[in-house]
This record gives sequence, structure tokens and C-alpha cells, in this order.
Amino acid sequence: MILVFKSEVPEHQLAATQQQLDRLGFTYKPVRTATGCLLIILDDVSTFPSHVFSQLPGVEKAIRLTSQCSLVFKNGRPSVPVRHVSIGGDEPIVMAGPCSVEGEAHLLQLAHSLKDAGAHILRGGAFKPRTSPYDFQGLGKEALAYLAAARTATGMPVVSEVMSAEQIEQAFDYVDIFQIGARSMYNYELLKEVGRTRRPVLLKRGMSATLQEFVSAAEYIMMQGNLQVILCERGIRTFETHTRNTLDLNAVAALKTMTPLPVLVDPSHGTGRRELVRPMSRAAIAAGADGLMIEVHQQPNAALSDAEQAITPAMLKDIIDDARRIRAALSDAHTNQALHPAGIHGAATVNCTPT
Ligand code: PEP
Ligand code: MN
Repeated sequence: MILVFKSEVPEHQLAATQQQLDRLGFTYKPVRTATGCLLIILDDVSTFPSHVFSQLPGVEKAIRLTSQCSLVFKNGRPSVPVRHVSIGGDEPIVMAGPCSVEGEAHLLQLAHSLKDAGAHILRGGAFKPRTSPYDFQGLGKEALAYLAAARTATGMPVVSEVMSAEQIEQAFDYVDIFQIGARSMYNYELLKEVGRTRRPVLLKRGMSATLQEFVSAAEYIMMQGNLQVILCERGIRTFETHTRNTLDLNAVAALKTMTPLPVLVDPSHGTGRRELVRPMSRAAIAAGADGLMIEVHQQPNAALSDAEQAITPAMLKDIIDDARRIRAALSDAHTNQALHPAGIHGAATVNCTPT
């Protein structure tokens, strides 16, 4: 932590700040530069709130050198095992299924097609958060039983959203991954509650959440002892209205520098448009995503929720093939680069003279 003092800070304020830091037991080093006074605190202050420092006498700003999300950084897992599937391993993982579960036979038939298409994990909303209270809000507990039956029939692990402690309890025996939706990312009591379950959690980014807020939400879950967190970028709100959201692929690359956690991308909610799901899936894998979450329906236009963004199982198969090819091409390029550091396939050095 570095404290930057106001210009021409009086000596008595500098002394008062140092006395307070002494009382709190911190070790520090005052520094006088040509333009002002700084004070470097040498201890780890990651568990102290910022106001403890920013409100000290004469301080203009307190700059943290390390993030407060220490668990995410130190203990975050680069891969999360879910039954036989490893999320964050060599293979891009695809979670696919209907926005909302619509019936037992419907789900079972779809689950088989998804498995044939190469999907790894079955998604399906039982409890649906809907912006309009008049829209279909899912079949609830009944849908959980259908998901579990589809899991037994296909062997695919199941992910489904929960929005309350009561729903966590109801879903506990039926789902393998608890999904925390965009609307719940800021529900800190819910984050603590899934943190206490020790079950993998798919945490979706809030629609206006900064990356720091997103990572802090993961920290809430991990503080309860649950380290199995998977992040999911699902698009953010911007001024653009042509697409439902703006899929922020910066987030994928940035989160990979901010945390060791697996990062998935949801191009269905990220675009809201069926025809954009395949190109944005390709882009997501190229940006380094560990996998995708995609809404699929046998008859997309007849889906009870999010019909505009639903794709068919045949379209999903093409996306999964793309994802595998892109991942393989990138890892070949990586290996070639390691073998031929002068450039891929030993190509001549590129001349970067500015024009
Ligand atoms: C969903 O995945 O079904 C969903 C509601 O997504 P989000 O929370 O990202 O809107
Ligand atoms: Mn949906």
C-alpha cells in the first residue's frame, strides 16, 4: 500500500498519520520526492478496508499494490473436476441445453442429441430469473427431476441456476454445478450460501459488473472454503441495442491475467442472436476461453424462453468441431513457437519498423 499525501501537507498531519500507523502496528517507510510526500506500508494490508488508509490525516489517496481477492489468486484452481469432466483442462468444455427445461421427454431427447453433438455438460433452467414477472419462470422442482433423469440416461453432468438458499437445498441432489446467474452476482448472501456447499459453482458476470467486482464475487464463494469456481462471461450492457448484450471478450483474456480460474463464455446471452452464436464461439475459444455455455433447442423458434438465441443440435455440433480445431491449431502454434523461437515454422523475424 502506498499513501500519497496532499501537496504541501503540513508536518503535523504527516506526524499524526505516522502515529496512527504506529498504533495499528504497521511498519512503513516515509519517502520525500521532488513533488511531494509518500509513505509505503510494508505489511500485507489485503484484509484491511481501504478507508482505514484513505481517511488518515493529509492523505490524498491510498494505492493498493495487491488485490483484496487473495483467495482467488493464491488458491484458485485452474481446472475444476465435475464427475468425469475437467473444466479448464486441455479440451474446451461445452455446456449446452435449453434455456428452460420444458418437459421430461423433450429434455431427454435433446440431451441425447447434445451428447451426440459432443457436448460435455447438460444445462437447463429449472428456476428461471425473468426480467418480466409475467414471463415463464421455469418448471421448478419438477424440472430438476427431469435433469437428473437425463443425467442418468446420458452420463452428462448437470448445471442449473439457483437463486435462493431454499433452491440450493431443493437442487442439491439433482445438479452437479450450481449456476449463479448474472442477476444474482451481487447477491452476497447467496454467494456465501453456495460457498458453503463445496459443490462446483458457475458464476456468471453481472450485466454491469466490472471485472474487479466479478472477481470479488468469486472471492465471496471461496471464502467459505469452496474453491471450485468457474467464471462465465455472458455479455455486458452497453449503448449498443442491435445485440442483446455486448460480449466482452476482453474479459476472457483479462481474467486469465487476473485469476487462475477457468473462464467460460456464453455467446447465447452475449449476443441474443442465433446467427452470431457460432462466430462468437470461435472468437471466445481463440481468446483463450476454457469452454462455452450455449442454449440449444430442437425447434429453436418454439422455445418457451430465449427463442431468438437458441440454436439446433446440428448447429452445436459445428461449433464444437470449430472449438476443437481452434484449440488444436493454437496449441500447435504454441508448440512450434517453443521449438522455433525465431517465429512460427522458423519464419524470418518480422520487421516492426514504424511507418
Ligand atoms: C441463463 O443462463 O439461463 C441465464 C439466465 O443467464 P444470465 O444469468 O447470464 O442472464
Ligand atoms: Mn436464457
